[in-house]
Amino acid sequence: MGDAGIDVDLSQGAGCHVKNGKIMSGIPNKTSSKLRATFEGYFEDTRVFEAPLTDSDHIAGVTLPGKGIIVSEGVYVERFMDPQFMDLLKHEYGHILQAKAWGRFAFYDIIGHESLYSATFHPDSHSTFWTETHANYHTQNYFDGPSGMWLDGFNSIDYPVAGLSHQNYLRLSTSQYIGKLLGMD
Ligand SMILES: [Zn+2]
Repeated sequence: MGDAGIDVDLSQGAGCHVKNGKIMSGIPNKTSSKLRATFEGYFEDTRVFEAPLTDSDHIAGVTLPGKGIIVSEGVYVERFMDPQFMDLLKHEYGHILQAKAWGRFAFYDIIGHESLYSATFHPDSHSTFWTETHANYHTQNYFDGPSGMWLDGFNSIDYPVAGLSHQNYLRLSTSQYIGKLLGMD
């Protein structure tokens, strides 16, 4: 592969995953200089790209609903069956499911900005931030169905699951409504 790529633009926000404080710190700067992502294949119905998001010791993921999931360079092919990488892909797919549930407008209006902000400025507590536990909620519901085998190994310590607070439910509902009024979904 490698002939079809996208430019990663995080200016509208993105669903993100950060494993420790180091991983995401360079991403906003790198992307402002047009980080190029290379198409590698699919996860479920979503295109997966690789880009130099991290150094080679770490893996990170960024999700842009409508474009796809972007992961660290070299991991999609080499580590596809690695449980740690599978968990990352499942988590990122949870961000795709958020956009399916609430609409792309509400995703970028609320979830994308807040997830990127959390990953960038509060990486140590990012995994328990509401945008992330809500993504994991969708991940769990989706993969714990008839294809329950996919949930094997989904690490609830790295990826804690929680429903929405009443406040965030109302915020997303309002944004979803505005998105529909604007014909953005
Ligand atoms: Zn995330």
